[in-house]
Amino acid sequence: MAYEARCHCGAVRVTVDADLPEKAVTCNCSHCRAKGLVLAAVPGSAVKVSSGEDALSTYQFNRHAIDHRFCAECGTQPFSQGKGRDGSPMAMINLRCVPQVDLDKLEKMEFDGASL
Ligand SMILES: [Zn+2]
Repeated sequence: MAYEARCHCGAVRVTVDADLPEKAVTCNCSHCRAKGLVLAAVPGSAVKVSSGEDALSTYQFNRHAIDHRFCAECGTQPFSQGKGRDGSPMAMINLRCVPQVDLDKLEKMEFDGASL
């Protein structure tokens, strides 16, 4: 069943063709820390920007391997796009931007991005 991620002001809406996750990745790297990201990985093809493509900006840092997509109006980052280990497109959904998700009930998997 699909779900929707959206930015704070509502300009950007992203349809995710996947079931709502029960687990999420939290990471201690400088970027995830600063934004408080709570992430779920999905195939790149599962993500469709249903509105607000023109409001989206892209932030890159470090190796510039990942496009961190955020709303230029409100600054919220609903998702990012990159490639998996096998080179196929993948996306990370910021579950803080998915109203249906109960963040306290998610099983958190901690990722030590700071040590990479
Ligand atoms: Zn916005």
